[in-house]
Amino acid sequence: MLLLFAFILGALVGSFLNVCILRIPKGGSIVSPPSHCPSCKTAISFYDNIPLISYLVLRGHCRECGTRISPRYFLVELLTAALALALFDRFGLGFGFLVSFVFICALIVISFIDLDVRIVPDVISLPGILLGLSLSVIGYFIISGESTVVPSPVSSLLGILAGGGFLLATAWIYEKITGVEGMGGGDIKLLAMIGAFLGWPSIPLTLFFASLVDYVVGIACMLATGAGRRLALPFAPFLCSGALVYLFFGDALIHFYLPSS
Ligand SMILES: [Zn+2]
Repeated sequence: MLLLFAFILGALVGSFLNVCILRIPKGGSIVSPPSHCPSCKTAISFYDNIPLISYLVLRGHCRECGTRISPRYFLVELLTAALALALFDRFGLGFGFLVSFVFICALIVISFIDLDVRIVPDVISLPGILLGLSLSVIGYFIISGESTVVPSPVSSLLGILAGGGFLLATAWIYEKITGVEGMGGGDIKLLAMIGAFLGWPSIPLTLFFASLVDYVVGIACMLATGAGRRLALPFAPFLCSGALVYLFFGDALIHFYLPSS
């Protein structure tokens, strides 16, 4: 029953994340105007705006004009719902679930905006850094203890420095050597945000997974498109995937490599 609740909550929030993904890059308001068909501008009535279900009922078309609606709306709702379910199953209903759910919502919005327009929005990552640090302080001093997800304030602060600092240094050295700008500033702020939410040990593992997935996907794209050289892929979705892997499996991985700790 509670699992179903987590799934429905995730789908509802996912529906809102779709709006954020669409409107944040345009700098528009995320609450008004109400959702409308991008083609015929008809406002979408509440019964056609039910997460997941409406898309299936309407078979991915606008009720008014029949224009095809991108399956991505459905995908984002399903992804958010599935992750909410997995987080709930993993961490139970509590502070850890709340913090990690807010965190993955930020990751989803950032990933899809980066895929769309190749920008990691500062309006998410910068407040995200502060929010992650604040939540670790609340977790440490007010909720105290029980949660294994929320890092200590010191770990969170070190995470921001490790995430931001490491990439800044790498980008600086890369630029000095090659004369080309390497990793974007947006990715640096994103990694600082990941460090704020997950603590400093997450940084090396997140970077490792992100680079690994980037490499594999890059090769796959080369083979699929027949391109001669590796394409420059948006890196934020890979960093976000790496952070997700750490969120779910970080503990297990750290204990596997450092059994004594
Ligand atoms: Zn329409």
